[in-house]
Amino acid sequence: MSKLQLLNSEVLRYFEDFVWKLEQQGLRYTILETLRTIEVQEAYYAQGRRPLEEINNLRKKAGLYLLGAEEGKKIVTKTMDSVHLIGCAADIVPVIDGKIPWNISKENAGLWLAFGRLGQEAGLEWGGAWSPYDRYGIGWDAPHYQRLRAA
Ligand SMILES: [Zn+2]
Repeated sequence: MSKLQLLNSEVLRYFEDFVWKLEQQGLRYTILETLRTIEVQEAYYAQGRRPLEEINNLRKKAGLYLLGAEEGKKIVTKTMDSVHLIGCAADIVPVIDGKIPWNISKENAGLWLAFGRLGQEAGLEWGGAWSPYDRYGIGWDAPHYQRLRAA
C-alpha cells in the first residue's frame, strides 16, 4: 500500500495527481511521510528544543530511531499543530542516484523547484514557498506539500 493511502480521502486525489505528474516527467521521488501520529509530532517538536535524552525518550515511544547529539540540536518543525496530523500533508522529495539531495545546491536546486512547481500545479501548497528562502529562492520546508480541505 502506498503511504498516500493514509491521507485524508478528501485531499488524496491532489497528491495522486502530483505523483502522476512526477512520473510523467520521469522524475524519481520518494514519499517520506504522510499521516503522522501525535507521538511522532511530539518527538519532532522536542528536537532542537529539549535535552537529547528527553528527545530520544519521546522518539522511542513513537517508534522512531534515536538521534545523535548534532541531529538533536536541529529544529525540524515549527508547530505542534501540523497538517500531517490530520492527514492533509505529505513530504515528497527528489531522488538522485538512489539518494535524497538534502543539501540544496546549485546542481539540484532546479530539481527541487521543478517538484515544487508540479506540486503547485496539482493544487497543493508547497512548503518551499514559505519564507525564509535560501539563495535559490526555496523556502524552509521544501519536502512538504499540503492541501487543506477548506481551501
Ligand atoms: Zn511535512
